[in-house]
Amino acid sequence: MPNTPPSLFNTLTRRVEPLQPLAPPRVTLYTCGPTVWNYAHIGNFRTFLFEDLLRRWLERSGYDVFHIMNLTDVDDRTIKAARQAGKKLTAHTAPFTKAFFEDRDYLRIKPAHVYTPATEYMPQMIALVSKLLERGVAYKGEDGSVYFAIAKFPTYGRLSQLDRREIKVGARVASDEYAKGDPSDFAVWKKADAEDEAVGAAWDAPFGRGRPGWHLECSAMSLSEIAQCCGVQTLDIHAGGIDLIFPHHENEIAQSEGATGQQFSRHWVHGEFLNVRGTKMSKRHGNFLTARDLREQGIDAAALRLLFFQTHYRQSVDFTDEALEAATEGVGRLGEFHARLAESGKRETGDGPLGGLSVKLEQDVATALNDDLNAPRAVAVLFEFVRAANRELDKPEPPRSVARALEAFQQVAGKELLDVLPTRRAVDPATASWIDERIAARAQARKSKDFKAADAIRAELAAQGIDIEDTPLGTKWKAR
Ligand code: AMP
Ligand code: ZN
Repeated sequence: MPNTPPSLFNTLTRRVEPLQPLAPPRVTLYTCGPTVWNYAHIGNFRTFLFEDLLRRWLERSGYDVFHIMNLTDVDDRTIKAARQAGKKLTAHTAPFTKAFFEDRDYLRIKPAHVYTPATEYMPQMIALVSKLLERGVAYKGEDGSVYFAIAKFPTYGRLSQLDRREIKVGARVASDEYAKGDPSDFAVWKKADAEDEAVGAAWDAPFGRGRPGWHLECSAMSLSEIAQCCGVQTLDIHAGGIDLIFPHHENEIAQSEGATGQQFSRHWVHGEFLNVRGTKMSKRHGNFLTARDLREQGIDAAALRLLFFQTHYRQSVDFTDEALEAATEGVGRLGEFHARLAESGKRETGDGPLGGLSVKLEQDVATALNDDLNAPRAVAVLFEFVRAANRELDKPEPPRSVARALEAFQQVAGKELLDVLPTRRAVDPATASWIDERIAARAQARKSKDFKAADAIRAELAAQGIDIEDTPLGTKWKAR
C-alpha cells in the first residue's frame, strides 16, 4: 500500500481527506453511468474521464479497484424517448448502449469491471422497495406509487447540506429530477401508466405493477454488486457529476442507508461541468458535441483527454475549438518527444543526466495526483520534463542513456496513466511530405477512375507502415 494514500475532496464533509477504504487494498468504486436515451455528449464524458483518471491512479497506487458503472436504461427520459421513436424501451436503448461502449473505447476509458443495466436488476429493486416498506421508511401513496418518507430519515439533506427546515412535510414528487429547494418525499416505485405499458417499461411487484424511480436503481444495483463481490454494504467511493448531488445522490443515500442501516459510501466525489460559453453542455441547451462528432472530425482522443486533464476536476472547463486545437498541438509535441526519445534510445550505453529528471517526473506526478487528483499539475510537470529532457538531448554531447527517461515518460503520458500520446506515430517531415504526395497521387488516380493505380498506392503506403482511411473530410493516414 502507498505510504501516502491519495487524498480526495469528500462532498460529504466538504474537505480533502485521505482515502480510507474499508478493506485495503480493495477499493469499491461506483460511478453513475449514462442514461442511454441518446448519445452521450462530451460533457458526460468529462465526468467519465475524470473517473477514468481516478481509477487509473488508484490502480497505479497499488489498490485493487472494483469498478461498477450503471446504465440507466429505464427512467422518465428513456421512456419518453422510446415513446417518441415509436419503439419498445429496450429496442430504443440498445443501440445507444452499444454507441456508449464504442465512444468509451475511442476515448480510451478503461471499461468498468461490471456494467449494470437497470432493467436487468428488477428483482433487486423490488426487494429494496419491499425492505423500505417493511422498515416503515417508505409508504404507498393513494396514487399507487411508493414514496420514500424523508421525515423518517433524520440525516436527509446531509450530502447537499440542506437545512432540515426546508424539508416539506407531506409534499411529494414523482419526477426523477427536481429543484434543490424542493426536498420532498420522492417516488421509489412509480405505478405503471399507459405510456410505461406501451413501451414495455412495467414490472409486476407485490406493491403494484410499475417501474423503479431513477434514484432507487443506483441504490439497488450498487448494493447488489458490492454484496456479491465483497460481502459488504458500504462503497468506498461513489462518483458522478455535481448535478447528481441533489436529488440523485441524496436520495441514493436515504434509500440505501434506510434499508441497510449502514453507511452507503465513505467518500463522495463530484466533478464540475463542461460548459460552452459559461452554460453547462447539455442536450436540453442544444450546445453539445458527441464523441462521435470528434471522431468523425479525425480528432485524436488524446487531445480531448489532455484538454480535460489540464483543468482540475472540481473546476469547470469552457469548451472551445481553440482549446481543442491547442491540446492537439500539445499532444503532437508529446508524440514528437516520444519519437525522439525512442530514436536516441537505440544508441544508448551507460547512465546519464536524464535519470534525475525521470525520478523527479515520477515523484512530482505522484504528489500532484495524491493531492485531490491534481491532473493540471501533473500535466504541467510532464511538459516541464519534456522541455528539460529536450534541452539535454540538444546538447552537443547528448546523454547516452535514455531508457529510464523513456520508461518514466511512457508510464506517465502513455496507456498506464494519462494516456495522452497521439495514435499516430510521429514521422519525420520528409516522410510526411512523401505521404501527402502519395495521397494526392492516389486521389488523382481515383478521379480518373484508375482504381488499379489507386490501390497500388495504398499498398505502397501500407508497405511503409502507413494506413490510410477515406473519411468525409478527406483521406486520413496513420503510421503503425
Ligand atoms: P446522464 O446521462 O444525464 O445520466 O449523465 C451522465 C453523467 O454525466 C452524470 O454523472 C452527469 O453528472 C454528467 N454530466 C452531465 N452533463 C455534464 C456536463 N456538462 N459536464 C460534466 N458532466 C456532465
Ligand atoms: Zn446514480
